[in-house]
Amino acid sequence: MNILILGGGGREHSLAWAVKQNPKCDRLIVAPGNAGIAMLAECADLDILDGAAVVTFAEENAVDFVIVGPEAPLAAGVADALRAAGILTFGPSAAAARLEASKGFTKEICDASGAPTAGYARFTDRAAAEDYIRVQGAPIVVKADGLAAGKGVIVAMTEAEALAAVADMFGGEFGEAGAEVVIEEFMDGEEASLFVLCDGKDVLAVGTAQDHKRVGDGDTGPNTGGMGAYSPAPVLSEAVLDQAMAEIVRPTVAEMARRGTPFQGVLYAGLMIEDGRARLVEYNVRFGDPECQVLMMRLGAQAFDLIHACAEGRLGEMQVTWASDHALTVVMAAAGYPGAYAKGSQIRGLEELPEDSSHMVFHAGTAGRDGSVVASGGRVLNVTARGATLAEARDRAYGMVDAIDWPGGFCRRDIGWRAL
Ligand code: ATP
Repeated sequence: MNILILGGGGREHSLAWAVKQNPKCDRLIVAPGNAGIAMLAECADLDILDGAAVVTFAEENAVDFVIVGPEAPLAAGVADALRAAGILTFGPSAAAARLEASKGFTKEICDASGAPTAGYARFTDRAAAEDYIRVQGAPIVVKADGLAAGKGVIVAMTEAEALAAVADMFGGEFGEAGAEVVIEEFMDGEEASLFVLCDGKDVLAVGTAQDHKRVGDGDTGPNTGGMGAYSPAPVLSEAVLDQAMAEIVRPTVAEMARRGTPFQGVLYAGLMIEDGRARLVEYNVRFGDPECQVLMMRLGAQAFDLIHACAEGRLGEMQVTWASDHALTVVMAAAGYPGAYAKGSQIRGLEELPEDSSHMVFHAGTAGRDGSVVASGGRVLNVTARGATLAEARDRAYGMVDAIDWPGGFCRRDIGWRAL
């Protein structure tokens, strides 16, 4: 089978790595890819937000199956364009991708399906939002409705902070994404992520994970795209998982189907767990980055069979073969990230590292230059390992980190602390 993966981060490197191990994969193309992906697949320069261009490329290259990595092409309707052209595609329609693209829409689905989540109100008027905040008091959470690359959420510990957030959002700081604002009850608890494949009717949980959003050890400093992750997440015990599937995921999938916009792809439920019960924080409509890296490490080649069956509407036949293992990934970032950082610093020592079913360095922001690898983004490498225990996975991952010679980079040293 000829397979095209859209995206070029660590998530897509791990997807490509898992797909490539499956004997059903003949030719693998990743657009745009990166320096790490280029070692195992063809990389293509393609505007992945342009549905017509992606369809033309897929037809010209006899692509049988497209896997969409990031949310932006999904929200832009690229999966719809591919399916309309008769090309098998993994990833939701633009209508179903609203579960990520509009926080107000997700709340509406929670209301209709009875899924537990934070109490909320939606506003398009600044004065009404300010009145609501004054009545509710702090802590309170202010969210721009649309996609804002993880920056459109302010967890306000004081009323003044919440009012300032509302002023920013209606002042246009998030553009169109902030034209509507959702204000939510603050939820206490421990966060974890649940990943569920959905083919429109059937669902299959493919793993749990926890990430580390803050840049510094001990969860300090500003928020980032994610500095590390591990799987499974111990807080998502079997009982909590069953409750989340029964009360949150299945009702959502049923409600989406009832509306004539069935969800096909991976539904990533961000959950808040308190007193043994999960409530929904948010949905994403694609794998998390870096959570995907630990899920792929644990699933290996079967990830492709699951994703393919999902796209073909055959999830009901599938089950996951789990090894009772753990995986952990450490993100190495360019010094300065998430603020301003330099590009172009050289990374040495990657060739000497083991790369097998238990050790992988997935590339995010890297580029090739004169035969060597250089940093080309903020988050640069995802050093990932598997072990019989989480501690073993962590020790292996940090062992690799320590063997990488990259003076221009840094990482957190405490990934996994919550579970360990
Ligand atoms: P990202 O894309 O980075 O996951 P996002 O912009 O889609 O973020 P959310 O996941 O909804 O936004 O919120 C970001 C973070 O804010 C959550 O991971 C959580 O830590 C916190 N948060 C969001 N809503 C609440 C809430 N109601 N109570 C407490 N914390 C919350």
